[in-house]
Amino acid sequence: MKYSEIFYSLQGEGALIGMPSVFFRSSFCNLRCHWCDTPYTSWQPESQIITVMDAVKTITDYGVHHVVITGGEPFLQKEPLAILCDELMARGHHVTIETNATLFAPVKAHLISMSPKLAHSTPLGDPIWATRHEQSRLQLAVIQQFLTHYDCQLKFVLDTAEDILEIKQLLTHLSIKPEQVILMPQGRQIKTIADKQQWLAELCKQYGFRYSPRLHIDLWEDQRGT
Ligand code: SF4
Repeated sequence: MKYSEIFYSLQGEGALIGMPSVFFRSSFCNLRCHWCDTPYTSWQPESQIITVMDAVKTITDYGVHHVVITGGEPFLQKEPLAILCDELMARGHHVTIETNATLFAPVKAHLISMSPKLAHSTPLGDPIWATRHEQSRLQLAVIQQFLTHYDCQLKFVLDTAEDILEIKQLLTHLSIKPEQVILMPQGRQIKTIADKQQWLAELCKQYGFRYSPRLHIDLWEDQRGT
């Protein structure tokens, strides 16, 4: 598998926030968010190679129950991803897959953590990628397929309070409970995130969505391996 890093940290976002977890970060992405917080998997993708069984051994050697497969976009590598999930679940791990929800494959996982990208993510300064990104970033049929077959959370990164309009429009096409929807502030710095907390909390109260901080940034700022 192409990957960029394997590390042990705390889950920083979503329903399992704070959970000690081993992270397997696949490399390469089919989107190009202009604010991507892992550009080493998207804009300048690293492409170390590891066999699935070596990945399983490295992950398992940490002796940690929760495993998070993240990216990049893990579903770009469907076949090895499916084997990786099978092997981890056979060893009793809890498996979360974090995805931009544009590609589907029937892999085994306990939680699919989808993060569909809103219009503010489009890289307007790069016309070629802006077009590709805009055409790909929302795949409603893929999101609904995950919702139908898995335990899911839907995480949205908001840049401004107006982003809620796009989210509300998107949700009219999906069968999902409000408590499965999680709102998070866009930002890679503590102050940027802090500046968005109050209006984000009010939106969560108004619509019954869940609020998620970004714990890894609160604890370690914008560092790799966290
Ligand atoms: S989907 Fe995720 S990994 Fe891909 S460009 Fe956007 S933020 Fe980066």
